[in-house]
Amino acid sequence: MLQISKGKPPACIAELQRTPGATWASVGGDQKEAMRAALLAEQGHLCAYCMSRVHNDPHRCGVEHWRPRSDPGTDPFHWNDLLAVCDGNAGAPHVLQHCDKHRGDAPLTLHPASPAQNVEDRVAYRLDGRIECADADALNLNCRRLLENRRMVQDAVRQRCLNFDATALRQDLAEWSGVDAEGRRRPFAGVALALLRRRLEAVEKRSKRTRGNRER
Ligand SMILES: [Zn+2]
Repeated sequence: MLQISKGKPPACIAELQRTPGATWASVGGDQKEAMRAALLAEQGHLCAYCMSRVHNDPHRCGVEHWRPRSDPGTDPFHWNDLLAVCDGNAGAPHVLQHCDKHRGDAPLTLHPASPAQNVEDRVAYRLDGRIECADADALNLNCRRLLENRRMVQDAVRQRCLNFDATALRQDLAEWSGVDAEGRRRPFAGVALALLRRRLEAVEKRSKRTRGNRER
């Protein structure tokens, strides 16, 4: 999971909020398209929960309500609670589904767009690709498909930065934090960032120790 910085909502959000009696069911196809485009731009075209690549396609990308719409008093157009998500392996058995498809209406603890909590500090990745975080089970983030994808990214990054010094690690960190010319982040970027941050911390600690020994 990656921290999302929310931007300005598309004009249709204010229109819907002004329309008396507007519900989620009354949202038009064009309005949903505009919402998906704005959400994907905020998220670097990655699913807000599993970090897989998502395109602006009504069949492959959903507009998710972090706070379930079934909760009494929920504003379905509250921009901060809207997220773009992948198709969650829709159509597969429930045990293989993930993200909002697996979640249903279950309440979540981690809010990737909450300025009050940095989700990246609340998620850990194990060497086998497992993710450890409060909502891993609700979102089925350790299903085989996601676990293998994360492990592949992790193995590639680990292999690449084996002998990296602090400068090279910082450079890779900047690349994994950034977006390409189309504003897209790299899929599963959170896994790479966590690993690179850990590696950088270890390298910096080691060089501090070496400096300390020399000065003695
Ligand atoms: Zn997803």
